[in-house]
Amino acid sequence: MKVMKFGGSSLKDSDSMLLVGGIIASDPEPKVLVLSAVQSVTDSIVSFVSEHRKDEEIQNLIERLKTIHLSILGGVAKDMTTKQQAVNLLMERLAKLEKVLYGISYLEELTPRTMDLVQSFGERLSVVITAAMLQDLGVNAIPVDADELGITTEGNYGNATADLKETRRNIHPKIRSMIERQETPVVTGFFGRTPEGHVAVFGRNGSDYSASVIANAIDARVLEIWKDVDGFMSVDPRIVKEAVTIPNLSYDEAAELSYFGAKVLHPRTVEPAREKNIIIKVKNVFEPDKEGTTIEPCSVEMGGAIKSISCMKNLAIVKAYGAGAGYKTGVMYEISQRLSDAGVNIYSAATSQTCVALLIEKKYLGMAKKVLADLKRGIVDRIETVDDIALLCVVGEGLGYRKGIAARVFTAVSKEGVSVGLISAGASMVAYHFTVNSKDLERTTRAIHSEFFGARHE
Ligand code: ASP
Repeated sequence: MKVMKFGGSSLKDSDSMLLVGGIIASDPEPKVLVLSAVQSVTDSIVSFVSEHRKDEEIQNLIERLKTIHLSILGGVAKDMTTKQQAVNLLMERLAKLEKVLYGISYLEELTPRTMDLVQSFGERLSVVITAAMLQDLGVNAIPVDADELGITTEGNYGNATADLKETRRNIHPKIRSMIERQETPVVTGFFGRTPEGHVAVFGRNGSDYSASVIANAIDARVLEIWKDVDGFMSVDPRIVKEAVTIPNLSYDEAAELSYFGAKVLHPRTVEPAREKNIIIKVKNVFEPDKEGTTIEPCSVEMGGAIKSISCMKNLAIVKAYGAGAGYKTGVMYEISQRLSDAGVNIYSAATSQTCVALLIEKKYLGMAKKVLADLKRGIVDRIETVDDIALLCVVGEGLGYRKGIAARVFTAVSKEGVSVGLISAGASMVAYHFTVNSKDLERTTRAIHSEFFGARHE
């Protein structure tokens, strides 16, 4: 049994939906499908609720969503009965969304819990039209809402984590009996339900993670993530045009690349699949014959060569200075506790005798300065910040064991005359990363890519 996940860019219009339909219908293996919302629908909902809205604006949004989904449905489902059933279900769901939006508007309140509920509607709509298309193609597809199915979450609204054990208990028997009845579940990605029964999302682009959670729960053989790109690349092709697709990655390599900027997978997708040694394949809907990237436990030799370079922009460094910071206990704890309470994620950290330097997203810089400003003297005497920081991460299984890789990376950087900020090596044996000023990101990336991949393309 397999899990196949399709992202919003593959569901953007009738033509791309039909490509998705062809891929699914031509694959005889029993499967569970997991979907994102139609392209930009979640964005529209998120930006809509970010302001106070009048009744008329609510009606306009509902009309717009209706038009988008009905027009795709019209292009992919021909059978009148199937289509009518899908239209009825769409209308029911849009009516519920409309009520939620009025609720937000009249109460003049948008709690994190309601935010998650409202965001979940993109997927609740996309599964209806996709299932209708598949029924038209002869697949016995049934739309399924992840919260009703029993994907159980823990943690915060907006960035929940799946409770894998509870989820398995809930969904394994249901999915198995659907498959026995020759049904193909078409499950909403992106969210589950809290133990109290409320909707909680897994963070933006979280449907990849949902698919991995489901693959774990049903002991899938393989998890296929279908995208609009060929797979993981050796580098961002917008920066280096000679970028090549990477055929194989280990779980760790894929996790590090995703965490540090490769936009191919949601950063947490690997965790649930890894727990059950499930192979992950990343494939391109628009070029399905291409091999894509296979992510698996141990087929990757520990060569120590760099497989890929990922980049992140819009970062900042916060430097907290305090005399003897290196000797005192609890400095790191105090600082990270405050940042965590303020919802600021620390991407990387380096400490010295006089300073603790932290890498965070630039958008949180003001917040970080504020919460660290009143740390008592003796812990922090002074805060300095550097914005316009970018990060480069070089990834390759075994890289941490092989001599000379760091020398090659930093020689290439120094030949470019670029100065390096924070460096982190040794935390992961498959990756190290360092920061540069944003303006130097592209040429540094090109220099490293050419050092490790250049000869192949000359
Ligand atoms: N629709 C959600 C988003 O846009 C989840 C996803 O696409 O994976 O973030």
